[in-house]
Amino acid sequence: MGAYVRPRELRAALEVLAGSDGQVIAGGTDIFPARAHAAAWGAPRDSDLLDVTAIEAMRGISREGFGWRIGAATSWAALRDTALPPGFDALREAARQVGGRQVQARATLGGNLCNASPAADGVPPLLVLDAEVELASLNGSRRLALGDFLLGNRRTARAKDELLVAIHVHEAMAQSPSVFLKLGSRAHLVISIVMVAANAAGRVAVGSCSEVARLLDGRGLSPIDDVRATADYRRLAAAELVARARERLAA
Ligand SMILES: Cc1cc2nc3c(=O)[nH]c(=O)nc-3n(C[C@H](O)[C@H](O)[C@H](O)COP(=O)(O)OP(=O)(O)OC[C@H]3O[C@@H](n4cnc5c(N)ncnc54)[C@H](O)[C@@H]3O)c2cc1C
Repeated sequence: MGAYVRPRELRAALEVLAGSDGQVIAGGTDIFPARAHAAAWGAPRDSDLLDVTAIEAMRGISREGFGWRIGAATSWAALRDTALPPGFDALREAARQVGGRQVQARATLGGNLCNASPAADGVPPLLVLDAEVELASLNGSRRLALGDFLLGNRRTARAKDELLVAIHVHEAMAQSPSVFLKLGSRAHLVISIVMVAANAAGRVAVGSCSEVARLLDGRGLSPIDDVRATADYRRLAAAELVARARERLAA
């Protein structure tokens, strides 16, 4: 069994991270199923765990300067239950649809982004919000656009000694009404086949159709084929969801 640490201070967590080969853990809802799966194929299950959920600087949603700051360890339940400006409606709708209530209570927005699944429901709403992520290490912190943070399926720009600390959204984006629509094989507790977020400023993002969710920018979609749906089905479903999202915003 590896070590388990749960510091309260960001600095202490960064020191642990700099000196270890362990794994960062927040809600554990992606890590534990993945570790169990890997263990079933013979991988060791005993790497050290650095739990970031007690770090005050990584929790909660607050106003800052000309925008909003969401701590990376903020749970989906907190997002779901917090009154926020209309630009966050898409993100809060995604929060209501991630897993079930138990998953929403444990799982975090930061975990969703760092896990970097093509089907991560948090990504399209944050792309539409033009969100930036803040990464910190012992050498300092940096901010980059979410689109530059997500590099591919399960790949991000996070260096090994960095923690995702917060997500930042500019006030102008926070005020633009937004919607989120998700298509799965059933209504609840399901991984997306296609999801779409859109806002009144005309930004539209589609997820689950490519390695990384992306903003529609005039280029056509070239969706993936996988166990959940064919590329053709995804193309039709995405077009339908985009049309519905625009109708809702117009209404
Ligand atoms: C039953 C079930 C249903 C689910 N349904 C959905 C769904 O509908 N939609 C969806 O998008 N996802 C779904 N998920 C996946 C998962 O719940 C989400 O992706 C969740 O947001 C992950 O957050 P977490 O805090 O649990 O991440 P964790 O499992 O703790 O971590 C995930 C990854 O991120 C890294 N990490 C976490 N936080 C940080 C940080 N602050 N800095 C650096 N690295 C970090 C970890 O090292 C790990 O690699 C589901 C999972 C389960 C088990």
